Amino acid sequence: MSEPTPDQPYHPDTVAAQALGWIDERTRAVIPPLHVSTTYLRDEDNQYRSGRVYARADNPAFDQAEAVINTLEGGHQALLFASGMAAATAVFQALKPGDHVLAPKVMYWSLRNWLMNFATEWGLDVELIDMTSPAAVATALRPGKTALVWIETPANPLWTVTDIAETTRLAHAAGALLAVDSTVATPLLTQPLALGADVVMHAATKYLNGHSDVIAGVLVVREDSPYWQRVRKVRAQLGGTLGSFEAWLLARGLRTLHLRVRAASASALTIARHFDGHPLVAEVLYPGLPRCQGHEIAARQMTGGFGGMLSIRVAPSQQGGEAAAIAVAAKTAIWKRATSLGGTESLIEHRASVEGAGTPAPPDLLRLSTGLEDVGDLIADLEQALAAAHR
Ligand SMILES: *Cc1c(COP(=O)(O)O)cnc(C)c1O
Repeated sequence: MSEPTPDQPYHPDTVAAQALGWIDERTRAVIPPLHVSTTYLRDEDNQYRSGRVYARADNPAFDQAEAVINTLEGGHQALLFASGMAAATAVFQALKPGDHVLAPKVMYWSLRNWLMNFATEWGLDVELIDMTSPAAVATALRPGKTALVWIETPANPLWTVTDIAETTRLAHAAGALLAVDSTVATPLLTQPLALGADVVMHAATKYLNGHSDVIAGVLVVREDSPYWQRVRKVRAQLGGTLGSFEAWLLARGLRTLHLRVRAASASALTIARHFDGHPLVAEVLYPGLPRCQGHEIAARQMTGGFGGMLSIRVAPSQQGGEAAAIAVAAKTAIWKRATSLGGTESLIEHRASVEGAGTPAPPDLLRLSTGLEDVGDLIADLEQALAAAHR
């Protein structure tokens, strides 16, 4: 594959739409072939000059998606993984037993679960803190002991915002790396590496692929280091390697990332404003609302929108807030009752049922992933479901 080398870096929309403009040299195809080989021929003198040996470590099917994501994030290198969780856990598995790690109390539930169970049992010293408070971060950091600070912004499922630049400054001053789960922000709306972060993680399952048909993850690093080489070994040796077809689909989905993210963000803002102060809604949680935690930081840190994710707390019916929330989800027609986010179809989910004991999600909370449907239809569907749940 060959890549044009512009004098000026292209706008992210151009990078995405053309998938960097790569052409398959052999066939002149503008869409890449699907590479499925698991192994590569050695040279006659027993060398591997192609750089490829075996597809658990690396695969030409990854090259284009990795290059596009790396360009959008302004990184040194991107690595695809078999899932968002495979990417996120690689960040921690590359640390050493005894390392102290800070993570937020409000964060993606499965990763929090893994950190508090497996990672702790394997010897990481994991501490959950209020990551939205720089004072709490400063107090929890142990210079020389804290190896990594993990943040998620906006964070599931309350969409709280963490100041990436400020938290990075604190982490670096204590000698710790800073990694960001930027799944919800996407590289279009936030650029964590430019704000100083060391590693960015995405569940590519979500907005990057965007069509609810691929499980994938990606890490992007700001600069090479012995730590990053350990992360590469985690992928190659633990084998959380993405499949070729999934990588191909991901590169296809990335071509419309900018259009999808902008449309979902615009609709989410319209929906948040519509239901803010609504008599059947106790609270709307969305960083785009000036009333919400972190709005000022989000307005500085995010560019071009506040993302497609929001939550609503349903006003109690005679059966209470939790029953009312579950009844709303039962009555929607367009909003589909399903977990996940970032697809073209809008999803609604009662998070407390999913997360169980210890969840920061209040029982009356519904998480909304805004899709690409007409925003008027989406609002009308929620209106009728809210009314039905309170009858
Ligand atoms: C989905 C998700 C993950 C995990 O990704 P998988 O591909 O499901 O493993 C991690 N972080 C966030 C914010 C997510 O939404």
